[in-house]
Amino acid sequence: DLGSDVEIDAEIEDDPDPEDLLGGLKIDSTEEINIPERLVDQVIGQEHARDVIIKAAKQRRHVMMIGAPGTGKSMLAKAMSELLPKEELQDVLVYHNPDDGNKPKVRTVPAGKGEQIVQAHKEEARKRNQMRSFLMWIIIIVVLGYALIIAGQILLGILAAGIIYIAFKYASRGSDAMVPNLLVNNADTKTAPFRDATGAHAGALLGDVRHDPFQSGGMETPSHDRVEAGAIHKANKGVLFVDEINTLDIRSQQHLMTAIQEGEFGITGQSERSSGAMVQTEPVPTDFIMIAAGNLDAMENMHPALRNRIKGYGYEVYMEETIEDTPEMRRKYARFVAQEITKDGRLPEFTDDAIREIILESKRRAGRKNHLSLHFRTLGGLVRVAGDIARGEDAEMTTRQHVLAAKDRSRSIEQQLADDYIERRKDYEIQVAEGYVVGRVNGLAVMGEDSGIMLPVMAEVAPSQGPGDVIATGQLKEMAQESVSNVSAIIKKFSDVNISEKDIHIQFIQAGQQGVDGDSASITVAAAVISALEEVGVDQSLAMTGSLSVRGDVLPVGGVTHKIEAAAKSGCDRVIIPESNKQDVMIEDEYEEMIEIIPVSHISEVLDVALEGEPEKDSLVDRLKNITGSALNEGASV
Ligand code: ADP
Repeated sequence: DLGSDVEIDAEIEDDPDPEDLLGGLKIDSTEEINIPERLVDQVIGQEHARDVIIKAAKQRRHVMMIGAPGTGKSMLAKAMSELLPKEELQDVLVYHNPDDGNKPKVRTVPAGKGEQIVQAHKEEARKRNQMRSFLMWIIIIVVLGYALIIAGQILLGILAAGIIYIAFKYASRGSDAMVPNLLVNNADTKTAPFRDATGAHAGALLGDVRHDPFQSGGMETPSHDRVEAGAIHKANKGVLFVDEINTLDIRSQQHLMTAIQEGEFGITGQSERSSGAMVQTEPVPTDFIMIAAGNLDAMENMHPALRNRIKGYGYEVYMEETIEDTPEMRRKYARFVAQEITKDGRLPEFTDDAIREIILESKRRAGRKNHLSLHFRTLGGLVRVAGDIARGEDAEMTTRQHVLAAKDRSRSIEQQLADDYIERRKDYEIQVAEGYVVGRVNGLAVMGEDSGIMLPVMAEVAPSQGPGDVIATGQLKEMAQESVSNVSAIIKKFSDVNISEKDIHIQFIQAGQQGVDGDSASITVAAAVISALEEVGVDQSLAMTGSLSVRGDVLPVGGVTHKIEAAAKSGCDRVIIPESNKQDVMIEDEYEEMIEIIPVSHISEVLDVALEGEPEKDSLVDRLKNITGSALNEGASV
């Protein structure tokens, strides 16, 4: 009974090739994948949250879900409503209170009964009105007859008839007041209710009583007819989902807590100066399961009593953002594509290659070795954009080309900025992608979450007036100094130049960007400084990323895929990455042909690849190789 443990309903190879992005699915398109009926079985990953939801549904417990948007919180809440018993559903009726018109009465009946009761009342009122009309016309005819024939008073007769008519109409208004207001109607409900009250204002959440512009004089709407249910009442016996719970105003959170505690909550007008504010119904049932959601901030900012209430009587779960990449998971991601197509209803089916591209993208977006991203909303967005492009072309199927076009179109703001930035830099020829330049190295950085940019570093060495200093410009000053102090141990070991007597100037060209992560530039800084010290040129058709240990080892960095793509876009032919990042490379095929990837594990390899001129370089590299290991340990206490 465990949700997406449900295997894929399609043909699978016996022993799938681990490289196969479809995890051994033998299909030509999404058409061949069957989708489980229950929503809980469609949820992919989030095993823990799914188990909790299933358990909480059985025990009727509240749940707090913390995690990133689009990872399935509302989907799970909805799935829970499908798991709740439908037999318990109720209708709620609001009646006129003859003793006090401002305190309407509330009755609860089994689902489906409400409509029947209202119908019966209407029928009764209709009959009574018929009876009254009949009586009225008899009296009018008698009065008119008497006035005209016996007394000869035409005007007086008509006047009397008019008065009788109005009096009857006025009296019959009272009988309309007897028809109850069907506040909550579950007659046609297929599953227990699911109500999303995210961002709801007080009235929508807690119920309201409409304002009556005609508050007296026979024109008014009876107060019980102006009562409206809130999400807490409509969710009775079902699930109330509130995302971004902390954004709910404190007063609403307090009332929400009361509703949870008491299991019922009377309705009153929410706007103070409206006539509705005078009305207060008897309690209306609010026996719902609360699923509150949000990010970590949300937990801190939510009303502490409300949080305690949920915690004390329920569960708290954390949503996962990535999941281990296995053949079975890949098959489920293929089913995800099929699910999104079915949900949308208008998208052409995806070919196997189009599905592969989506799965590759979820691998890329995971940003973690051997993992797939669980950010399904954005992935679903990609599926829809690709499908829309295919539909726009009247294509029969959504193909890999459509997915690639969609990826281009649904680039994040950061990616668009970065691309624009690369374009502009090309215009100004700040970007150098050929020849050799002393002290200049093409570094790579990540902007935002998913966009790489090329970030050249320039180093210059000049005699110092006092003790040598590292002078860096721009926001990356600290990082540059740290990088240099890290590499200075290495430099000292092999360079004839005494760097304690030199000033090293480091400049990050046009690093005006936010979010550039510094650590990954340390091999870049090292290469630039060494090149400047030794006056050997660096290959400008090469870009690099990598972190450096004091021993000269090249350590892994984040965002390699995006960085490689940025290097390719900027016109580089080769790119150096840390050997230990090799598995993280998930570049698109298009780029694979544009750029050669060179994995390295030591700074000597970096220089071997980057520097110009055989004799100078060879001696440098040899010296560098010699300083690894024990040789370095002696003087590495920098
Ligand atoms: P959240 O509430 O966490 O912001 P949603 O549940 O609204 O995210 O997810 C948006 C959509 O993304 C869902 O309607 C569904 O189509 C898809 N989706 C999200 N999470 C999953 C999941 N774990 N498995 C399958 N589809 C998912």
